[in-house]
Amino acid sequence: MKNSVAKSRPLPTISLEDVGGLGEEMKEEILQTLSTLKEPERASKMGIKPPKGILLYGPPGTGKTLLAQAIARELNAAFFSTSGSAFNELFVGVGASRVRSLFQTARKQGPAVIFIDEVDALAGRRKAHGGEEAEKTLTELLVQLDGGHSNDGILFIAATNRKDMLDEAFLRPGRIDFSFHVPLPDTKGRKEIIDIHTKGKSLAENVLSSLDDLAESTSGFSGAELQSLFETASRRAVRNGQNVIQKQDLDYALDRTILGSTSRSLQDQ
Ligand code: ATP
Repeated sequence: MKNSVAKSRPLPTISLEDVGGLGEEMKEEILQTLSTLKEPERASKMGIKPPKGILLYGPPGTGKTLLAQAIARELNAAFFSTSGSAFNELFVGVGASRVRSLFQTARKQGPAVIFIDEVDALAGRRKAHGGEEAEKTLTELLVQLDGGHSNDGILFIAATNRKDMLDEAFLRPGRIDFSFHVPLPDTKGRKEIIDIHTKGKSLAENVLSSLDDLAESTSGFSGAELQSLFETASRRAVRNGQNVIQKQDLDYALDRTILGSTSRSLQDQ
């Protein structure tokens, strides 16, 4: 494996409009946080330090990665994306050198967002974490977060489903300045996500008129599950030679999704 672990996709095309269910208050809070990064001089005149790190936490598939991409786009920043598990190595020093090279590459590119998904694999509580290699890797991450200036054009975004597992030193302000909870969507959020994922799809009249009911009846579904619902329905429609998604396609996809999540939760037991 090469030393560089991050996939860089300069300037993501995802915008905040593509992330459903955030709620106006959270959107406003995110935009306010970002405004200090967009105008660091004005922020510093007001005595405000732009954030170095943001944590997004919540259940799987709720749009944390999507939101990180939207933030990068909002900042006009290149997007370096990787997973915490990409730093887990048996050989002492390899994980740490990967962290260093990730930050070095991003700093050269700047402005940039460094996004680490499943950050618990990298920044888990030290006692639980164990091992010299894991310890060194986490220490290097802390060094890199401390070493940057708050106006060096780098924003670090971490995501996790297990905030409770994270090391307290990692969560300290100056490293992680803001934490945003990204929960499972409520009915209004699900409707927004359904609208996002049906945009540009041809839907039969009886599907269109049932979307509010669908939002009501899909309590517990994540954004990823809603997205996959319409993917499955579209694929079935195409397979059957149709030009539009019919109610039967959606019902079939719903059964498949519910079956999938039931067998997942049975496996989890
Ligand atoms: P994980 O914790 O498993 O990494 P995540 O929270 O990062 O998941 P994403 O990878 O952003 O979730 O979501 C996967 C896909 O599901 C997205 O690319 C998108 O198509 C859809 N999706 C999830 N949440 C939303 C949302 N809030 N709005 C619109 N689409 C969503």
